[in-house]
Amino acid sequence: MVTRQVYADNNATTKVDELVVQEMLPYFSKYYGNPSSMHVFGGQVEKKLVEARERMAAMLNAEPTEIIFTSCGTESDNMAIYSAITSAPQKRHVITTKVEHPAVLNYCKQLAKRGYGVTYLSVDRDGMVDVNEFYDSIRDDTAIASIMYANNETGTILPVGELGTIAREKGVLFHTDAVQVAGKIPLDLQKLDAIDMLSISGHKLHAPKGIGVLYVRRGTKFRPLLIGGHQERGRRPGTENTASIIAIGKAAELAQTHLEDELTRVKALRDRMEQELLARIPDAVVNGHPTQRTPNTLNISFKYVEGEAILLMLSERGIAASSGSACTSGSLEPSHVLRAMGVPFTYSHGSLRLSLSRFNTEEDVEYILQELPPIIERLREISPFGRNKEEPQ
Ligand code: PLP
Repeated sequence: MVTRQVYADNNATTKVDELVVQEMLPYFSKYYGNPSSMHVFGGQVEKKLVEARERMAAMLNAEPTEIIFTSCGTESDNMAIYSAITSAPQKRHVITTKVEHPAVLNYCKQLAKRGYGVTYLSVDRDGMVDVNEFYDSIRDDTAIASIMYANNETGTILPVGELGTIAREKGVLFHTDAVQVAGKIPLDLQKLDAIDMLSISGHKLHAPKGIGVLYVRRGTKFRPLLIGGHQERGRRPGTENTASIIAIGKAAELAQTHLEDELTRVKALRDRMEQELLARIPDAVVNGHPTQRTPNTLNISFKYVEGEAILLMLSERGIAASSGSACTSGSLEPSHVLRAMGVPFTYSHGSLRLSLSRFNTEEDVEYILQELPPIIERLREISPFGRNKEEPQ
């Protein structure tokens, strides 16, 4: 009997905040004008788009003109790299990391097939890049470095401020995929003044799926991916997804209100979960940086068990988690992130990602702590490679 439901998969997607829903709903059937239209129907909507852009800019401490609304985080990532390489066609090299989301990683793989040089920076056991390796990888023909702000699987926060400064000194554009940090840590693009472009996705921020943002610093050369009309000042043509833009604007405003809660209460819940699981379950290790980590994320590996089996049993008990990024689940290959971190095979197969949000409670964590240890114990009993049994080759 499932007694409760706990959603602990917030790095995959988040619940849309009720206040966000309320804000966007009238913009489907009551205020449905095209914001480009000169009449009152258009004006009503245009005014709200201006507000949404201001709200998003405020969350980032940026200018409203630096905000481009896109269809998702993936589009923002693709757009940033596309713009950089198209603006400087003579530059044929890009730098990224081995642990990026497929939105960056697979884009770079495509570029490599087209003859671009791509450097994939390695990471250490905590998922951290080496600043010196980054420095050494920059070439005269490097068009852009695209380095994620925080990893979706482990939550490790990379030193993008420092890397951006190095890139700026060397005349290289710097983009960061900030999809997993927006709303979780402060983002101040006046302070992070060497970041030229930054991606955000609505559905990780308690806004709907299918809306994203690309921040482009004023003065950055920009070439659009889509060619069409004048929307987003020609940088992202296509009639605006008005309700969702209004939604992500509201979500950005709420994110600022709730930031303190993420940094304190949500972090305390995550920390408690981490400490208790490590104390109660032998042969468990945390994947991710001990301190430089998003406050909501715990990626933990249990030796001798399969992540998919843990997920199934958790799911039967009403607990939603993930065994890697949502995009790679379904494949039994250990995640590319854990492999890049050098997590041993016997651990990487038994990895579990628990990711919280402001909607999680102490009771949720208690329930996870009650249910998870016996699941691991049970799975180890039935595993041919359980403790004190033969090690897999
Ligand atoms: N980048 C990161 C780090 C992500 O976690 C995700 C989503 O999982 C994306 C990009 C893609 O965002 P979207 O689903 O909006 O395309």
